[in-house]
Amino acid sequence: MCEGNKGGEMTQKELEFFRNLLLKMKREIKEALEEKRKRIQNPYQETSSELSLLPSHEADRGTDEEILEETALHLTADANALFEIEEALNKIEKGEYGICERCGKPIEIERLKIIPYAKYCLKCQRDIEALQSKEEEYENRRFKEFRI
Ligand SMILES: [Zn+2]
Repeated sequence: MCEGNKGGEMTQKELEFFRNLLLKMKREIKEALEEKRKRIQNPYQETSSELSLLPSHEADRGTDEEILEETALHLTADANALFEIEEALNKIEKGEYGICERCGKPIEIERLKIIPYAKYCLKCQRDIEALQSKEEEYENRRFKEFRI
């Protein structure tokens, strides 16, 4: 009775594999985040004192700000991925891992091997992306019309 895994044909071994994969990803992202955070807190660390004496310093600062902005963007993306990974790990605990959140069918193992924190099966992901690109297209068209 306890063996009943409804529909999800994932074996304990496969679950263990994905759990390890997710934990590894989590560790790597956390390390990368830590690294980036340090850079944000100390952005001028690598600038030599000689360089900062040059009159072009003002121009340099603009570039630094751009780098910071880009880093912040990456930080958000990584933080999102971290959240997704955390959710996937929770699902493993609850025995809900590998089930599509949209249609309730098992997500393809091959897909999970590439994106272990995937929430949707391939078909649903394609549906969602098609819907999104349609919306984007609509937005773009509206924007063009607005500009004319
Ligand atoms: Zn689905």
